[in-house]
Amino acid sequence: MVDRKYKFSWGLLGDIEKGRPNLGPNTRLEVYRLMQYAFRDVLEQQLGADKADQIFYEAGKLAGVEFYKNCFSNIKDFNSFIKDLQETLRNMGIGILRVEEADIEKGTFVLTVSEDLDCSGLPDIGYEICVYDEGFISGLLESFTGSPFKVKEVDCWCTGDRTCRFTAEIIK
Ligand SMILES: [Zn+2]
Repeated sequence: MVDRKYKFSWGLLGDIEKGRPNLGPNTRLEVYRLMQYAFRDVLEQQLGADKADQIFYEAGKLAGVEFYKNCFSNIKDFNSFIKDLQETLRNMGIGILRVEEADIEKGTFVLTVSEDLDCSGLPDIGYEICVYDEGFISGLLESFTGSPFKVKEVDCWCTGDRTCRFTAEIIK
């Protein structure tokens, strides 16, 4: 068996109430973005842009799977899942989720996230940047449906749009 130094578990996130009695659970958004964009820079320099994106997608997916396990694993009905997900994403300040299209039979969805944690307010750079979110959404959908999903961001704050739009398709 391979020894893992950083294998994820929800417990790794710690007891925030105990650990931050004065500062509490919140931080400034710049701090989150500072870490994310520093990671991207170094990953790109060391591994190239494609590999950096792939790592972000996979990390987002792992986060989506773990987030699902932690928050939504008892929900069986799709509409209840989406409603709960919308509330949680909003309450945690991650973004405002809307479902534009949902074909559960076919396994195709179009979702938007406004005021997105990763990109809202960034400069217009001409390409979509929310690769972590793509993975995150795929992890959530895969956990709920039991089938793998390919998620692609098609509109982003960084492409001049004011909401991030994602297409999701079941992988057959
Ligand atoms: Zn975006």
